[in-house]
Amino acid sequence: MQREETPEEKIEQFEFQSEAKQVLELMIHSVYSNPDIFLRELVSNASDAIDKLRIEGLKDDALSGLAKDGKITVTVDREQRTITVSDNGIGMSRDELVSYLGTIAKSGTKDFIRAMQEAAASDNADLIGQFGIGFYSSFIVADKVTVITRSARGEESWIWNSSGDGTYTIKPGGREACGTDVVLHVKESGAADGADDSGEGMKDYLSGWTIREIIKRYSDFVSYPIYVDDTAKEKKEDAKPSPVNSMKALWVRPESEATEDEYKDFYRHVTHDWEDPMERIVYRAEGTTEFHALLYIPSRPPVDLFYREGRHGIQLYIRRIFIMNDCRDLIPEYLRFIKGVVDSEDLSLNVSRELLQQDRRTALIKSGVTRKVLDVLRKMKEDRPDDFKKFWDMFGAVVKEGIISDAKNREAIMKLCLFDASESGGRVSLDGYVSLMGESQKGIFFLSGGTSEMLASSPKLEAFRKRGIDVLLLGDPIDELWIQAAGSFGGHDFVSISSEDIEIPGEGGDAGHEAAKKIEESGITSKLKEAVLKLGGSAANIEDVKTSSRLVDSPVTFVQKGEPISLQMKRLFKSMGQDLPSDKRVLEINPSHPLIEKIAAESGDCGPDELKEWAALLVGLASIADGEPVENGKDFTKTLVGLLGK
Ligand code: ADP
Repeated sequence: MQREETPEEKIEQFEFQSEAKQVLELMIHSVYSNPDIFLRELVSNASDAIDKLRIEGLKDDALSGLAKDGKITVTVDREQRTITVSDNGIGMSRDELVSYLGTIAKSGTKDFIRAMQEAAASDNADLIGQFGIGFYSSFIVADKVTVITRSARGEESWIWNSSGDGTYTIKPGGREACGTDVVLHVKESGAADGADDSGEGMKDYLSGWTIREIIKRYSDFVSYPIYVDDTAKEKKEDAKPSPVNSMKALWVRPESEATEDEYKDFYRHVTHDWEDPMERIVYRAEGTTEFHALLYIPSRPPVDLFYREGRHGIQLYIRRIFIMNDCRDLIPEYLRFIKGVVDSEDLSLNVSRELLQQDRRTALIKSGVTRKVLDVLRKMKEDRPDDFKKFWDMFGAVVKEGIISDAKNREAIMKLCLFDASESGGRVSLDGYVSLMGESQKGIFFLSGGTSEMLASSPKLEAFRKRGIDVLLLGDPIDELWIQAAGSFGGHDFVSISSEDIEIPGEGGDAGHEAAKKIEESGITSKLKEAVLKLGGSAANIEDVKTSSRLVDSPVTFVQKGEPISLQMKRLFKSMGQDLPSDKRVLEINPSHPLIEKIAAESGDCGPDELKEWAALLVGLASIADGEPVENGKDFTKTLVGLLGK
């Protein structure tokens, strides 16, 4: 920061924080499919600023007088080539100017910058919409931006200036009343006067008509009046200006009285997303607690979906008055991708986040909203399976968290789930799976512990495949957690096909028994067990060697002995800094496999060293089939080559 004292004014110069610089660079140099968003963003900021002053006014008498009659004015000056967005909201102090406009505090900004840099220029507009880059989008149309602001809490006003080149200045002065003017000095290039909409460059943003159109299109729902002042037009003496926006609360109107476009534009207004939503939910609850909700499922997941701190998208209104953004008490974590508005008829206007948490009505709204969303998803799954599949691919992993955290809706959530399955080829639901279960099948078979592609090629599936029995391939990390929480579905237990003692329906057949008997008689299993127990290393948790009924084409596989150790347990041990208790495993050998038959036949003449080599080979093969690395690749290859040579 440099200080430059002049007799009349004190100008301070600052550098943008490095991430802010990068975002600005991208704003200035990228090509946008829709530059109009700058106005939507600035009007949103102005509306937020008036909201904030109103909320502060409820708590602080000194501010309550200022908080009346919020309004936004957009002034277009063709001669000066400026567009000014003015509000009489909360304003900013000098320090707030520095931290709000000079830095980017939002989580996920690093991801944004990376995504922007990776994406082709033509895709960037989508990303900007998704991140709601806000104030910086001014630089899409302006080569210089001036912000004149006065905080409702302070005595001074400030003028902020930047050309987006990495630095900005702040000097005192500029405003009598609290609020903010954002002055865009519109670029010469691109925004050619009179340029038409279809042309190469930008629209004529210096036309009052264009500005009105954009406001009507994107900001009609803003709850404060927005006036457009076009300095080029001669002012009629006594014409009373009327607001450009209708200020209608879309969510209280019956669905039949609103248009598709209105719903879509409102979605963009609340989410700053550029695309259309995937689904809209209009809901009116009556009874113990009354509220309106207008909710949306976005058509793509936000970048921060898996960050718990990620922005939750529910705005709370009370009787048509905006109360707060990001109201997490109204929607469960596992529906955190839902965006929109909840408007309560009976909460008290001076509610705070703390009071809200304690209010019984909050919990009622939350459970009402949850039930409604789950119901909409259920219908979507039934009526529009293709859309639902898309939804599930994007948000399914998050929704499954609800099986653990929301015991009340567990069944409903489980019914939504779609899984890869070994035989069906496509996705199956639990209901679908159960309806195809044979008489003798005792549980819902699943395999977990890897991606579903990895699981699909596991040797553990062989016997099931041979008998045409479907196995769910649970490839999401969350699957291992919820399956333990749930335990069963519709009275059928979940059964892991990697556990030691499972009953495979229609198992056996004489040929299988015959082979197993022969192998048992050869004594090879006990000899191999002895050898395996001496191996150590990653084989140290192998407790037994047995003949298998679940293998068809593969010679060996590992199965779990007893209860597998849950991921939660593993995390717990890790957090306590303790070594993990290792899972106990059994090496199963396929009695009908030529390799096993050969080892059995020759084991009579084998010395203990050679048996140990065979044991190491089988353990290595089982690891590879499970998608695990072989412990010592070099030794393994040597053993393999040695045995092949014989
Ligand atoms: P966002 O609005 O998504 O937080 P912006 O970059 O648009 O991001 O704005 C950053 C911050 O600057 C806002 O959160 C707000 O605190 C402040 N700000 C922007 N415009 C105004 C305004 N017109 N009045 C008061 N504060 C504002």
